[in-house]
Amino acid sequence: MSDLTSLVAATNATLARIAADFTPAVFASSLAAEDMVLTDLILKAKLPIGIFSLETGRLHPETLAMLDKVKDTYGYEIALYRPQPEAVEAYVAQNGLNAFYDSVEMRRECCRIRKVEPLGRALAGNKAWVTGQRRAQSATRAELHVQEDDAAHGMVKFNPLADWSEQDVWDYIRANNVPYNALHDQGYPSIGCAPCTRAIEPGEDVRAGRWWWENPDSKECGLHLVDGKLVRIKSVAA
Ligand code: SF4
Repeated sequence: MSDLTSLVAATNATLARIAADFTPAVFASSLAAEDMVLTDLILKAKLPIGIFSLETGRLHPETLAMLDKVKDTYGYEIALYRPQPEAVEAYVAQNGLNAFYDSVEMRRECCRIRKVEPLGRALAGNKAWVTGQRRAQSATRAELHVQEDDAAHGMVKFNPLADWSEQDVWDYIRANNVPYNALHDQGYPSIGCAPCTRAIEPGEDVRAGRWWWENPDSKECGLHLVDGKLVRIKSVAA
């Protein structure tokens, strides 16, 4: 078996185990390349794992276009969770539309309103959630495990692609004709909100274009943070 075939088999086994033992479970898709690999695996296997995205109100048109691409390719409609309008209005009125450039605190508050709070609603009532994070993506993800105990949300968190390399992701996408975000062909290996993501130069870290004005150690949106600290909970034996 090739390395990719082995990885796909292991990932399918993880997803099948989630479907068998952890339902209801949901997959948080950012509509980026890794998430499209998981989308392809989940939908082709018809697994009972719901897929949702956080529509922050600041996404690129190319990212929003992925919603239709998924619908056209798989006949599946990704559920969208949006921020509370009054919270966004209050933040903008008090601080300005792009106050996240001013400090890490202002950036985290914007992420809290536009991502973390909607994520809480999306996860409520589930036993497990799934992400497309990979260990090799950044310093903040170096200790990522396939299965983690997410005490903050009171459920199990799965990162089925933890062992995958960026090359594995693209080999899978190309071999299986998986639709992907057009921004990936424009120098964006990692994609978040439009004002907080830039293209990177060859040789730069894959997450260098995310919140590029901040120190690498602070670069998480809060979806994987508790009380402002990174949560890398101990691995749970499969
Ligand atoms: S990534 Fe930027 S625009 Fe998006 S929620 Fe975070 S701070 Fe706000």
